Amino acid sequence: MSVKGSERMKNRRSTARANLQFPNPRLITHDSRLPFRVGFGNDVHRLVAGRKLILGGVRIPFDKGPQGHSDGDALAHALTDALLGAAALGDIGAHFPDSSPRWRNASSLLFLRHARQLLQKSGFTIVNVDATISLEHPKLAPHIPRMRKKVAAALGIKTAQVSVKAKTGEGLDAVGRGEAIRADVVALIVATS
Ligand code: MG
Repeated sequence: MSVKGSERMKNRRSTARANLQFPNPRLITHDSRLPFRVGFGNDVHRLVAGRKLILGGVRIPFDKGPQGHSDGDALAHALTDALLGAAALGDIGAHFPDSSPRWRNASSLLFLRHARQLLQKSGFTIVNVDATISLEHPKLAPHIPRMRKKVAAALGIKTAQVSVKAKTGEGLDAVGRGEAIRADVVALIVATS
């Protein structure tokens, strides 16, 4: 190998080491030549009387709702975590701490809009998100079209890029006993700049 070639190898190795120590998600993405990244988010809330049930920014008539500091929108929280996770930008707790009065009863669509801005700043675009909400009652099917629309608007993407599904807990565990709501979300993003 020429002197120049071995210099180049050395530089490449030290860059790789630096990336391992201080991973820049965009650099890693670009190096792989496949600019896609996947993220996963999950959220669980206890259901209590006297709280509004809000999912994806949509108010759903029910006699119980999620206990929580913000509006307890499990779908929006899991989505926010999935998007932040895809870009390795931390998690919802780091960006919107429970301890801050600023987020008390805040609409969780704010979290989605903020996550969208963070992704934009990091050079990422959302490809699609896919969510499953687990809830024993009430039936969510009639509300899903509005949830998809609201989430898509908050994220600045098309409704077709947002999938929302609903399941019950089959009478098992906390969801099945009607004590909790849970949302699980995967998100795919792509580096565009
Ligand atoms: Mg939550």
